[in-house]
Amino acid sequence: MTSLVTSANVESRASAAFLGFAIGDAFGATVEFMTEREIAAQYGVHWNIVGGGWLRLKAGDITDDTQMSLVLARSLVKRNGFDAQDVAEGFADWLKSGPLDVGNTCRRGIRRFMTHGTVEGPYSEGDGGNGAVMRVLPVALATLKRPELGQAWAVQQGHITHNQDKSDAACVWFMRLIQQALLTPDKTVLRALADRWIEEHPYFRYTAYTGPSSAYVVDTVRTVLCGFFETNTFEDCLIRVVNRGGDADTTGAMVGALAGALYGLDAIPKRWLKALQKEAREEIAALTPQLLRLSVA
Ligand code: MN
Ligand code: MN
Repeated sequence: MTSLVTSANVESRASAAFLGFAIGDAFGATVEFMTEREIAAQYGVHWNIVGGGWLRLKAGDITDDTQMSLVLARSLVKRNGFDAQDVAEGFADWLKSGPLDVGNTCRRGIRRFMTHGTVEGPYSEGDGGNGAVMRVLPVALATLKRPELGQAWAVQQGHITHNQDKSDAACVWFMRLIQQALLTPDKTVLRALADRWIEEHPYFRYTAYTGPSSAYVVDTVRTVLCGFFETNTFEDCLIRVVNRGGDADTTGAMVGALAGALYGLDAIPKRWLKALQKEAREEIAALTPQLLRLSVA
């Protein structure tokens, strides 16, 4: 792997990141909220996109993780940048459309916007779910060449539903890691960045992490980073993380974005690409270059 990357290569790996995200969501949703042991008993190793799960999905269906990311991505493109009001309206329209699943903190934040019109809730220690960091990828793409702006947007998009320090730290650092993976697809460089993240926020320590893979943002990030750094291919990485169960669609989606950015399009198993719902696949392919274009505006 080289640190010299062309813009065509960045665009291709950005598509892999967004597709990898949606694939991780569709793949993980089957075993969301199951334990490792339950997954092993039912599937041996869960390795195909087959739908089902507690949401009774069709194979390839995406869930709230990808849907909320798409709302944010569409708004960034439409508004030529981050517009909290427009994103919140997009979330409200999405909630009114009756999605199969929506996280409790996300629902509460969107309802607050619908009632009071505020695009940021008050600080709350209880807002430590992964609902803000799970949808930060479009901001990473839209600010690839403008990282400081990206940090502000990452936090602001998060505060629409989650205002909590660990959630904020996760949004900023996970976004940085994705951007670094796109610009410098080199695991040594990524590990050095993750080390700085852990130095600043030691509670995200991830080496040999075997704790819960829950929707608590700290558990989620530790699961994702451990799975990412302790595997060497896109496929192994997603299988490893998703088979840990818990909030498996969200950990799968997040690690799918990182792994897609690092390993690129050719590393994504064809069976997974083919299984992903066609509308999502096509919209992601169309939005990704538009998001990247914003980053040099
Ligand atoms: Mn979900
Ligand atoms: Mn989830």
